[in-house]
Amino acid sequence: MEGGGADRGAGRGGTEDGTSPEIRAWREAVAARPGPMPPPPSPAPVVLAMVIPCYDEQEVLPETVERLAALRGRLLSQGLIREESTVHLVDDGSRDATWGLIEAAARVFPWMHGIKLSRNHGHQRALLAGLLTVEGDVVISVDADLQDDLDAVPEMLRRHAQGAEIVYGVRTSRKVDSFLKRWTAESYYRLLRWFGIDVTFNHADYRLLGRRALRALADFGEVNLFLRGLVPLLGFATAVVPYERRERFAGESKYPLRKMLSLAWDGITSLSSVPLRWVTKLGALISILSFLLAGAALVVRLVAPGHVVVGWASTVVPLVFLGGVQLLGIGVLGEYIGKVYLEVKRRPRFVIERRV
Ligand code: UDP
Ligand code: MG
Repeated sequence: MEGGGADRGAGRGGTEDGTSPEIRAWREAVAARPGPMPPPPSPAPVVLAMVIPCYDEQEVLPETVERLAALRGRLLSQGLIREESTVHLVDDGSRDATWGLIEAAARVFPWMHGIKLSRNHGHQRALLAGLLTVEGDVVISVDADLQDDLDAVPEMLRRHAQGAEIVYGVRTSRKVDSFLKRWTAESYYRLLRWFGIDVTFNHADYRLLGRRALRALADFGEVNLFLRGLVPLLGFATAVVPYERRERFAGESKYPLRKMLSLAWDGITSLSSVPLRWVTKLGALISILSFLLAGAALVVRLVAPGHVVVGWASTVVPLVFLGGVQLLGIGVLGEYIGKVYLEVKRRPRFVIERRV
């Protein structure tokens, strides 16, 4: 008994208030308040891989390749990237001279590579084909048409060096977009938020992903791809780099209304089941309403039988209305079942035909 007491006394390290050295060290560590992630003293240059989806881009590609070469020179001289850095042009089943141009670029510039998909898989999958198959410490994806300012790349790399695993390029203004495109796009971002889908406002697919983020992205197996909704689900520290969105350098938009609507719909249905819940709520509401209507009819019949009109409206209106609501409900259900069907099949999301 006596000995135990003496031992405990010694364990306290002889301090008057009875704290152990460990606890004192812990309190000092807390008082020092370490920052969330201290930046490394001098950011080491990284191996950068750029991924550029190209679909029928023969008009812009010559200029795009030149600008990418110039950018590489600048990044190297600024000590931001290493010599092993690469650029990957993903040919999404183009029908024009795009692949020929990519092959030529790969012959001239040893750091330039081409990935040819077996057919047109769509922008999101072309992007994914690049993201999941290239090597490097960081990957930056950007469109081929030079609408996204390449001068934002150094800042993206700096933000990555400061600890951001994901860096979003965000358009500061959409002056060059038509009023309709701007309005629909911005309303769409709002709608997504409303459905509980986390997206970065005015961010498209111009972004930097670190190796860890890419590894996490590879675990998302969905066929219905909406990358800008998936990336926020990865987590990690993020940063935003603003840039001016420019006019397309040359050629037509490869996103006709049909593709845009399909992407928009995928965005909602692949990430949110709120529309399904709406249909359920609407159904419940209408059921309650019809009960009330029946009650009202009964009351009229009991109180003022003379006023009962052999109702045309009361038969036809609910009939049409309910028919519409049911079709709506079935339609929304069908959409989701269709999505489930596609996911269950687990088909490959892209097929690579050739690489150079
Ligand atoms: N793109 C693609 N596959 C497609 C459609 C587009 O790889 O089926 C590429 C296209 O070459 C471009 C990027 O996706 O690099 C964005 O397309 P675009 O600039 O035409 O869209 P917008 O800027 O008009 O929305
Ligand atoms: Mg564009």
